[in-house]
Amino acid sequence: MSDMIIRNGELLTSEGTLERKDIRIKDGLIAEIGSELLNHGEKEWDANGQILSPGFVDLHVHLREPGGEKKETIETGTLAAAKGGFTTIAAMPNTRPVPDSPESMKQLMERIQEKAHVRVLPYAAITERQLGRDLTDFEALKREGAFAFTDDGVGVQTAGQMFEAMKKAAEIGKAVVAHCEDNSLIYGGAVHDGEFSRQSGIPGIPSICESVHIARDVLLAEAAGCHYHVCHISTKESVRVVRDAKKAGIMVTAEVTPHHLLLNEEDIPGDDAMFKMNPPLRSKEDQAALIEGLMDGTIDFIATDHAPHTAEEKAEGMRLAPFGIVGLETAFPLLYTNLVEKGECSLIQLIDWMTKKPAEAFNLPFGKMEIGMPADIVVLDLKKEARINPQEFLSKGKNTPFADWVCKGWPTATFFNGNPVWTEGRVNA
Ligand SMILES: [Zn+2]
Repeated sequence: MSDMIIRNGELLTSEGTLERKDIRIKDGLIAEIGSELLNHGEKEWDANGQILSPGFVDLHVHLREPGGEKKETIETGTLAAAKGGFTTIAAMPNTRPVPDSPESMKQLMERIQEKAHVRVLPYAAITERQLGRDLTDFEALKREGAFAFTDDGVGVQTAGQMFEAMKKAAEIGKAVVAHCEDNSLIYGGAVHDGEFSRQSGIPGIPSICESVHIARDVLLAEAAGCHYHVCHISTKESVRVVRDAKKAGIMVTAEVTPHHLLLNEEDIPGDDAMFKMNPPLRSKEDQAALIEGLMDGTIDFIATDHAPHTAEEKAEGMRLAPFGIVGLETAFPLLYTNLVEKGECSLIQLIDWMTKKPAEAFNLPFGKMEIGMPADIVVLDLKKEARINPQEFLSKGKNTPFADWVCKGWPTATFFNGNPVWTEGRVNA
């Protein structure tokens, strides 16, 4: 681990103003933040007036390994994360095998140790093989390093099972993280049950498919005394339920994806599976409610739901292709360009939603630029403008609806525990 000084960076103050500072990194930690720091023989990195942000935190990522290595691996997924400025990501358990036992969790931790380029926090499954039948051994999984519990990809179908899971999670101080989808309300849908569905004839998933699960779960979480986290919230009714639950003092948090903030069903160009994800792109009103929910704190933070698939799979069209799009390498530039530059939110709000807020929601000691914290730092060039080219992604997944969008605000270097894990163009470290 090399000691280093990063010079001439712009740091955001808590008031949202920028200050020119140097950062001294020692033993992988932030040792000093100040002006014109004296060199004690360290290597130097000149940030040239670019923004220095805490490394981004993404609590919803599909790394696909083990079992789905054609789509992504721990290696390629974490390289994509580093390129996108993320230094902490949480990996979803819908892999083969599923991390649903101490043995499979242990093996996953070993693979992560060996192959990951950034910090990976593995989720454990709520039910064995995510089949919704038997609950996993939460305590044993926690001992092996489970970050939290989720059956992401499918909803927990019965209230009774969710209640049992929440009571167990509460006992061991872990969160239940929910993909909210009631199987009896999917109707074989591939898109939102709205205007695009009616015009195209492609079956739609109604908003209640998500919102009824959230309404059920916040009451269960209240009764169980459990931290309940809503994945990829997508409907205006869901936002209302979470808002009311927070007002009632229920321990609920929620995340929203960049694509649900930036797109709605009217943006779907036709039978193009790059626009197929679960939950689907909803209506314009839903999109507006998500932005409002983020602004007023109902929605706590942003997570990408990075979901790589092969080109062949995504070529199958809306009805047959799998759900999901990639997001790690485009999240910040897309949100910076389309929210901050358009005046919808400030730079510090966006950075907080991608750093401090997810860390705080799960009591993680990351996402802040403070003395003694891991030196997880992303360097951002707010002026650099470039066109999104999926062929340049480090992720194996090239499945994005944002190809050819022109964005500003690109990461140019990412430091993880003080080491440059991704740099654009230069290495002077
Ligand atoms: Zn999900």
